[in-house]
Amino acid sequence: MAVEDVDLIVIGSGQGGVPLAAAFGHAGKRVVLFERDRLGGTCVNYGCTPSKAFLAAAHAAGRARLAAGLGIHCDVRIDQRAVMDRVRTVRGEWNAGIAPKLAKSGVEVVRASAAFTGERTLRGGEREVRAPIVVIDTGTSPALPPIDGLANVPYLTNKTFFDQTTLPEQLIVIGGGYIGLELGQGAQRLGSAVTIVHAAGRLMEREEPDASAIMHTSLERDGVRLRLNAHARAVEHDGAAFHVTLADGERLEGEGLLIATGRVPNTADLDLERTGVAVDARGFVQVDEHLQTACPGIYALGDVAGQPAFTHVSWEDFRRLSSTLAGTPRRRDDRVLSYTTFTEPQLARTGMTLAEAQAAGFDARAETLPLERVARAAEWDLELGFYRLVVDNAGGKILGATFVGYEAGELVQIVGFGIELGATWRQLDDFVAIHPTFGEGLPSLARLFENA
Ligand SMILES: Cc1cc2nc3c(=O)[nH]c(=O)nc-3n(C[C@H](O)[C@H](O)[C@H](O)COP(=O)(O)OP(=O)(O)OC[C@H]3O[C@@H](n4cnc5c(N)ncnc54)[C@H](O)[C@@H]3O)c2cc1C
Repeated sequence: MAVEDVDLIVIGSGQGGVPLAAAFGHAGKRVVLFERDRLGGTCVNYGCTPSKAFLAAAHAAGRARLAAGLGIHCDVRIDQRAVMDRVRTVRGEWNAGIAPKLAKSGVEVVRASAAFTGERTLRGGEREVRAPIVVIDTGTSPALPPIDGLANVPYLTNKTFFDQTTLPEQLIVIGGGYIGLELGQGAQRLGSAVTIVHAAGRLMEREEPDASAIMHTSLERDGVRLRLNAHARAVEHDGAAFHVTLADGERLEGEGLLIATGRVPNTADLDLERTGVAVDARGFVQVDEHLQTACPGIYALGDVAGQPAFTHVSWEDFRRLSSTLAGTPRRRDDRVLSYTTFTEPQLARTGMTLAEAQAAGFDARAETLPLERVARAAEWDLELGFYRLVVDNAGGKILGATFVGYEAGELVQIVGFGIELGATWRQLDDFVAIHPTFGEGLPSLARLFENA
């Protein structure tokens, strides 16, 4: 097989790889992109898009039930087939846009698993190609916990969850991180009886304890059963139901079993040992501040580079790497990270928590506004949550925020934008917000620093 020379090779059609390949293609470069699965990567096919379409239905049902507090009593009937059909339709529409986009920009897509045969040379399917620039955008896959019998049972992960045409009557979710909580709450709201088994003492244990506590309250309010400090030891499937045995001997039974216990990088099949690319102990590709690996000309972006696993991180990597490759180096680590868990209420973050700011050496302090003190939340009966701001005492600059509340992800981004601009809590305090909006909580929150 003759080795072909091209200008750029991209491995994986994830959130950063597709726009990077398209940009090079538009610029007249010869680009080969390898993809072994569906075009669009995790987000479009198995992550953000289907999960948020799923939650759109789930939260409509959840809000209808909670409307009883407003004096509205709904008889909620769920058409699970219609819900799951719509999820796949939405996913299909987004997926369908990718191939034409790549074709239009002249990118050659090779539908095969790629592996290095040498430095900056890859083989995939019937093709062997070499390029001065290779970008690894191979993402992650679900991690499988060491549960006896797991390999022999038809469990679900985020890769198969959205292929279901209906939902199990009883669903056991292993993992109380954001994927487990979003899909667990979603399934409960859509008619499954959900039990979430989580190894730590609280849900989402990397978040602040009071944020975890609100997640706990809201899930229980929906009827989700929580097993914390719980370890699934063994699982069996009798043809109809799963039987999960926990370390304390409790046995759980359900027609569905979802594994949501973290992610592993897709690097094992890349034959990286044929390059100088270094990986960490978990297999994530190690990159420098410009996303360059230990091997010149090979870059990695998105999840596989061991970064916060979000679509907007991978996409922003594309912008920064494009700039670097065009001769204007941009760092990967000077962005303000924001993210949201799309449960109801949402848990939304930007920048640093108080503990992170203090660990980074700031003389930081935080103030917290309970949502009962936001008129909109009280009027709409959506008071479960809080808005917290972290500032630097020296100068008052905003360092971060945690917002837990209805559509909190929308609002926390305004704080993220403020951090990018170097805003202080006094400027936020001066902002005249519209009454009565959730945004009115922003100056009210800032005002707490005046009174503190
Ligand atoms: C259930 C769920 C919900 C999520 N919700 C959100 C959300 O709401 N917001 C958010 O920001 N993020 C969300 N995420 C995370 C988000 O999906 C990922 O961070 C994002 O997709 C990462 O993009 P990426 O470019 O790193 O790689 P990916 O999108 O994972 O793409 C990697 C691609 O590489 C391909 N590949 C791997 N190895 C090879 C190989 N050897 N040869 C050829 N191709 C290969 C894979 O098939 C895959 O298509 C969610 C994830 C999950 C699982």
